Amino acid sequence: MSYPMMWTVLLVFFVAIHVSAALGQDKGKTLEVFNDVERTSKILGASVFTADFEPGFVKHENGSIAEVNSVNEDQRVLRSNVDLLRPNFQAAVKYYKANTCIRFREITKEEARNGPHIEVVNDGRCFSLYGHQFENHNNLSLGLGCRWMATILHELGHALKFAHTQSRYDRDNYLKLNLNNVNASEQYNYAKLEKADTENYGLPYDLLSIMQYEDGGFAIDTSISVMTPRNPLYKNSMGRNFELTFIDLKMLNRFYNCPESCKHKIKCKNSGFQNSNKCDECVCPSGFGGPNCNVRAGSDDPSTDCGKTLKATSKKWSTLNATFDSSCTWWINAGKKKHVEIQFLDVAIDSNRNCEQAGLDVKICKTMAIPNVDKFVSKDNRAILRAYVNEKRSQHFTIRYRQVN
Ligand SMILES: [Zn+2]
Repeated sequence: MSYPMMWTVLLVFFVAIHVSAALGQDKGKTLEVFNDVERTSKILGASVFTADFEPGFVKHENGSIAEVNSVNEDQRVLRSNVDLLRPNFQAAVKYYKANTCIRFREITKEEARNGPHIEVVNDGRCFSLYGHQFENHNNLSLGLGCRWMATILHELGHALKFAHTQSRYDRDNYLKLNLNNVNASEQYNYAKLEKADTENYGLPYDLLSIMQYEDGGFAIDTSISVMTPRNPLYKNSMGRNFELTFIDLKMLNRFYNCPESCKHKIKCKNSGFQNSNKCDECVCPSGFGGPNCNVRAGSDDPSTDCGKTLKATSKKWSTLNATFDSSCTWWINAGKKKHVEIQFLDVAIDSNRNCEQAGLDVKICKTMAIPNVDKFVSKDNRAILRAYVNEKRSQHFTIRYRQVN
């Protein structure tokens, strides 16, 4: 794809990765990813890189041409994204630092000659090679339409050996694919991986993973689906995440043996794992908190707790009216072997389509949550609701809930 001169930016910088525990690439298996370049090229039948999408162009009202992110409508802006690269890349690097033991460091061209590194380039597309395919460096391209934090997190995910979630060997249990709507030359983007070549640590398929596509990628006819979730609750949220999920982080921390950098081991409840950045604490799935993930998130500090533990004891509906301006968690407990039914009556939450600024989600299991649902029945006898907002802006919702058999 050729670019108008005004948008042509020669971009090359180098980043080194340091992992404070054993390096993942020393292991026999790779994380949801092929083992080597040769095999990758053979199976994908094309390039070894994973090209996520090609950005498109739109015409600005004043006649100038700007680039848009063709994946997420909410992120469309009619201006150059050149200035977004460095701050957003730094924010993504900071995110990985805060949530894993992986450290990225910008290095000079001279330093880049000395060891493995990621070479960040701009060839117009969003793509990254899987980690350490070549002896010395990986290419990671961030075209003008790829400089959103979520896209950078996604591409760095590839560099850390994550494949697309929809390439998981078990994806057909969770997705309906319509590859008739994808050109044969692009269908490799939906190639399925072999179980033996990947490592998921038994963690469940996560439709909200940062590595999961939303519907419509590489579609010939954009009015027809390419990929739909079998669970209709995910219809509005699949592939629209803005950061890594708990499952993504757990997989990455495990793959890079992050907790091994802690001298003392601690036990974590409810699928949590030891936080390699604060070894006396666990990283808990949303809705759970305390040092060991065994209490309702937020409840260990009553001075700031904005959620509540409620009871659903009968078939009669109860109402929860909540106003919040920070992250709050509600647990609704039913009797043994019973379930909690919830109806979302009024959710006045001001956010963009991918719920980045604020949201309300409900846990479908201990490790996974879904936003934007109308009604819900818990799998066990507890429903967990989590509301969050990035800035101190008051938000409101009303639900009703009851116990069901
Ligand atoms: Zn990708």
